[in-house]
Amino acid sequence: MAATSTDVKALEQQHVLQTYRRLPIVFERGEGTRLFDDRGRSYLDFVSGIGVASLGHAHPGLARAIADQAATLLHTSNLYFHGLQGELATRLSALTGLERAFFCNSGTEANEACLKFARRYWHTKGDGRRTGYVAFSHAFHGRTMGALSVTADEHYRAPFEPLVPGVSFASTADPSALETLVTDETAAIIIEPIQGEGGVRTHTPALIAAINAAIERTGALVIADEVQSGSGRTGTFIHARTIGLNPDLIALGKALGAGVPVGATLVSGRVAETIEAGDHGTTYGGNLLACRAALTFLDALEGGLQESVRRTSRHLFAGLARLAARHPSLVTEVRGAGLIAGLDLAADATPVVNAALERGLLINRTSTTVVRLLPPYIVSEADVDEALGILDESIGLLARTA
Ligand SMILES: *Cc1c(COP(=O)(O)O)cnc(C)c1O
Repeated sequence: MAATSTDVKALEQQHVLQTYRRLPIVFERGEGTRLFDDRGRSYLDFVSGIGVASLGHAHPGLARAIADQAATLLHTSNLYFHGLQGELATRLSALTGLERAFFCNSGTEANEACLKFARRYWHTKGDGRRTGYVAFSHAFHGRTMGALSVTADEHYRAPFEPLVPGVSFASTADPSALETLVTDETAAIIIEPIQGEGGVRTHTPALIAAINAAIERTGALVIADEVQSGSGRTGTFIHARTIGLNPDLIALGKALGAGVPVGATLVSGRVAETIEAGDHGTTYGGNLLACRAALTFLDALEGGLQESVRRTSRHLFAGLARLAARHPSLVTEVRGAGLIAGLDLAADATPVVNAALERGLLINRTSTTVVRLLPPYIVSEADVDEALGILDESIGLLARTA
């Protein structure tokens, strides 16, 4: 017999480490852009598991592919060959313009690999002093020691210090600081082409120009953390080139596996040349299940979904602009690209998120005042209209209580 939601919560309270503050909903199933809770209530999902469920929920093609793979072969380790890693690497290489792929299981791991490969590059080049990293204010790259070391948020960092040494943070608002922060001891600059967790922040041309000038001056590598902004989310496969960056390393995750944990680090030829067998590895990384899921996602993306993301995005941002215009004192800025959007509010976004939840729309808050929208790529214009209607009402409530 299925446990009631009260049982589910009580059981977790006892034996699940309390690292998450969950909302009091127990989800049972999904279908397309909708989730259903244990009371049969339906929700329009504009969180998509934090940018993961790119094909929506219970996608028939993905379900078939996963079932077929499970009935054939799931995992063999990286001790042997299987048929899918090379195929996936070839497609990711074509989509990113970087020669080689390393597969892992999460966005954090993809960033860890980037950080290691950047140091390995300089170590192989005989420049052992080049071990530093420059990261940015509001940056989020993950919670393991390396990824955390380049993550800006003090609340995430402070309890776990000392972290990896040699990291400096540049304010995205002060591009000229890169002139002194990036030196000939900097292995790499790490940047999210759109900062997701930090509040859906896009970058100014001045910042990108300063990064490119710093690279020109010092030869430091660029790591693009495209875990949230990549895999087609913004309308092109990666966002870095759209904004004028030429990364040697790209971290992918989230949408790439469409719900199956998949991480990938893409590496330029010159960096790949410096990496040797044994330098890095993982037990699960690139197993048949993960590769099959990612290949199924890429089939869908290249089979029309990428165009659909661009189309729906225009509809979404036109609607958000109208919504912002209707609430000029409450919505201070609309940011994002493709199907990642942030509405910066004049107040804490929590009441808006809660009001939307009561009305059957899932959205979430980042960076205190920002409402973030990360719908599945399969979202329709009708879904967008429904979400915009609920958002409008939820923001309107804020006006009445303010
Ligand atoms: C989510 C995210 C990560 C961490 O990915 P996990 O899969 O949670 O390990 C890293 N970088 C960015 C930009 C992210 O959005």
